[in-house]
Amino acid sequence: MSEHSCDYVNCQNKASYIVTFNGRHYQLCKTHFKRLVNAMTKIAVLYGGSELKDLKIRKERGRIRIISSRKVSKEKFLKQLEKLKKYEGVKRRYIASFSATFKGKTT
Ligand SMILES: [Zn+2]
Repeated sequence: MSEHSCDYVNCQNKASYIVTFNGRHYQLCKTHFKRLVNAMTKIAVLYGGSELKDLKIRKERGRIRIISSRKVSKEKFLKQLEKLKKYEGVKRRYIASFSATFKGKTT
C-alpha cells in the first residue's frame, strides 16, 4: 500500500485514486476524485459528453489544480439538468449533491 498523499494543491488527504492525464499519473484523494468526476459530469450535461481531455491540469507550487477547459456555467448546468430530469429521470437528490460539492470552489 502506498502512503502517498493527494497531489491536489493544499490537500493533505491520503491518495485513493490514480488518474492519468496525458500519460502522467496523478494521485488524488476521494474528495478530489469526486470533484473531478463532478466536473466531468457538468461538462457532459452541458455539452452532451465529456472526456478527461476536457479538463486541464494546472501546476501550482509543485502540486496540481484541475480546471475545466470548457466553460461551465452553474446556471446553465442547473437549467440543462432540469431539462434532462424531465426526459431522463435525473433525480433531484443529484442536484443537491452537485451544488454542495461545488460550493466555494474557486477556479
Ligand atoms: Zn485531495
